[in-house]
Amino acid sequence: MYDVSKIRADFPILSREVNGQPLCYLDNGASAQKPQPVIDAVTRGYAEEYSNVHRGLHYLSNLATEKYEAVRGTIARFLNARSEDEIILNSGTTEGINMVAYAWAMPRLQAGDEILLTSMEHHANIVPWHFLRERQGVVLKWVDPEADGSLDPQKVLDAIGPKTRLVAVTQCSNVLGTIVDVKTICSGARDKGVPVLVDGSQGAVHMPVDVQDIGCDFYAITGHKLYGPSGSGAIYVHADRQAEMRPFLGGGDMIRDVSKDVVTYADPPLKFEAGTPGIVQTIGLGVALEYLMDLGMENVAGHEAALAAYASERLQGLNWVNVQGQAPGKAAIFSLTLDGAAHAHDISTILDKKGIAVRAGHHCAQPLMEHLGVPATARASFGLYNTTDEVDRLIDGLELCHRLLA
Ligand code: PLP
Repeated sequence: MYDVSKIRADFPILSREVNGQPLCYLDNGASAQKPQPVIDAVTRGYAEEYSNVHRGLHYLSNLATEKYEAVRGTIARFLNARSEDEIILNSGTTEGINMVAYAWAMPRLQAGDEILLTSMEHHANIVPWHFLRERQGVVLKWVDPEADGSLDPQKVLDAIGPKTRLVAVTQCSNVLGTIVDVKTICSGARDKGVPVLVDGSQGAVHMPVDVQDIGCDFYAITGHKLYGPSGSGAIYVHADRQAEMRPFLGGGDMIRDVSKDVVTYADPPLKFEAGTPGIVQTIGLGVALEYLMDLGMENVAGHEAALAAYASERLQGLNWVNVQGQAPGKAAIFSLTLDGAAHAHDISTILDKKGIAVRAGHHCAQPLMEHLGVPATARASFGLYNTTDEVDRLIDGLELCHRLLA
């Protein structure tokens, strides 16, 4: 049974007050809070078990290496990758997508080649592709969401042309909460010989993920949204795509031999992991993923679906609130604007006075904001520990905003 009070007790920050009110944390889309086992792992990692990884032959280095490397297996299990060698550890999704741009796309794409994106992407899945546009003349093509915020996978597949070299698409919009049918996109794209990168930053947080079932070539996750430490993350790269990649960052750990004349590289995945990594952060991510797997991602998804349904119903009762994105089965992410002149920053400031944390702005999704025709929204994003009482607090807070700002 999913016992949300018991789960909340695992997150010490949730029992603090903000502005004299119990914290109501609805900014999970930006970053999630950490359960005690993750906090303990990070503390222990520094207090008792810290050393650099891979290089030492002493006790602490071996211990840190063992714990760090074990996380690769944990992530492979979490994503159901065929092998832990398909997991490249990094600092988060931004690094993961940049690595694909530099290591896979740059050497392969030429002027006139196309990358297909949706207008719902986070800047982390846009700007690296602009680098290719600016530097190599690669053309970016865009598919817009429907009026309700859903994304028609057939429209993505129809937009694939003879020059499309990559489809890069989010599994879940960080603004609209839209869940994208990435499996259909991957299978259609595969039939046309086009690889697919899935940005799983939000998707992996809200639903079980099986990269083999999805059939993607790349799947990026970021640790801090998965209840793990910031500065941790990974990207799944299908072995066939790994074989096509050249190293991105050069330095220690990713080599076999270096001389004045030549360098030979370590086998993947280490070949793509230069330098001292986020050791303790990654160990903390492993603990966070174990925590999620113990809860069961199906159960997390079920809890959040019930919260989303309740929040949608309550928000519908406020006819001066506009919810951006009403796709069926969307994740519990609500981007709001209010009728009248209320600015998202004012909404967020008033809610903050009530102890409610939401995010205001463009959410690193400016092409989407342009498509929606709004400069900014206030976004309430729910996580595995949120409750229907917190939905009610949000509604009360919005009513106060309406009274003060309309
Ligand atoms: N992609 C999506 C959909 C996101 O929501 C985010 C973070 O907000 C990112 C990518 C970037 O993640 P990070 O900043 O952890 O690299």
